[in-house]
Amino acid sequence: MDDLDFGKRNKRGDWAPSAHPEIAFFWKEPFNLRKWSKFALDYVWPWNAFHMAVTLLYWRFVLPDWEVMKTLSWDWALWLYAVNGIGIFLMYGSIELVYYVKRKQGTRFKYNAKFPSEQPSDVFWFKSQNIDNFLRSYLSGIVFWTLVEVLMLWCFANQYVYWLNWSEHPVWLTILLLATPLIHEVNFFVIHRLIHIPFFYKWIHSVHHNSINPSPWSSLSMHPVETFLYHGVVWWHLALPSNPLIALFQLHMAGYGALNGHIGFDRLELTDESALDSHAYLHYLHHKYFEVNYGGDGLIPLDYWFGTWHDGSKEADALMEARYAKKVAKLNT
Ligand SMILES: [Zn+2]
Ligand SMILES: [Zn+2]
Repeated sequence: MDDLDFGKRNKRGDWAPSAHPEIAFFWKEPFNLRKWSKFALDYVWPWNAFHMAVTLLYWRFVLPDWEVMKTLSWDWALWLYAVNGIGIFLMYGSIELVYYVKRKQGTRFKYNAKFPSEQPSDVFWFKSQNIDNFLRSYLSGIVFWTLVEVLMLWCFANQYVYWLNWSEHPVWLTILLLATPLIHEVNFFVIHRLIHIPFFYKWIHSVHHNSINPSPWSSLSMHPVETFLYHGVVWWHLALPSNPLIALFQLHMAGYGALNGHIGFDRLELTDESALDSHAYLHYLHHKYFEVNYGGDGLIPLDYWFGTWHDGSKEADALMEARYAKKVAKLNT
């Protein structure tokens, strides 16, 4: 595929898409049926369908009996940590292997022309972004994800929270299931905005932002507090009457879905003519510019409403510069 049919490359070799991402269409055209059908397909396929498939595999083959999960124990906690770790190794590792190690599509559709392995830096353990991010994922990201998962399952097992059945509450549970990407976006925006407050940024979130040019292993490379808050999206399903299957799906959308923002390529070429949309651009711009795009894809466009939306356009650049200038002026007075 010729990526220049879809975007342009600057002198440094960095590629950017010509079409700028937009907030969800229904905020502007709620009655456009044609767009609703395309939206519905994109909403489900392929990423959320993948997360649901993995969730169902966990439900059927991985989760211990509910009787076992009534008691907190290292046995089943370590079992879940192992499965999460292996699952992430397979998913993230295969993308890393194909697109970053073997470099199947070179730098086609790649936002930053450099690969992290070409940029050793003192900010990383062993001066290597890959080793640093990999170790932090396994020592922090997946550990605290599993901790949240264990606590969530333990609460459901003991009926400390409402556990609604599908047969009795199909409408509410379907609404909740469909709302999971919206819950994810709102939760992510709120906790992300919070850890960008300078004090929290310095101690917590800077770990994740060391990777200015993120790759798959950057996704879960977070400070323990950040990963606990990020996966804490699942508390919504303890606060609202829900079902553990939906809660687990919500958790997978955070854990496995963290990959999307950090793929580094706009599209992953599958064949000569087809490619998978990564949904990575907005979060890539967040890693590049720091103070834009705190949320997700604009389903609930909080960035747009709060003036931090950056779609990669010159106009968005100008707005960002104006915001910086205002901030500097305020600091100087
Ligand atoms: Zn990130
Ligand atoms: Zn951030």
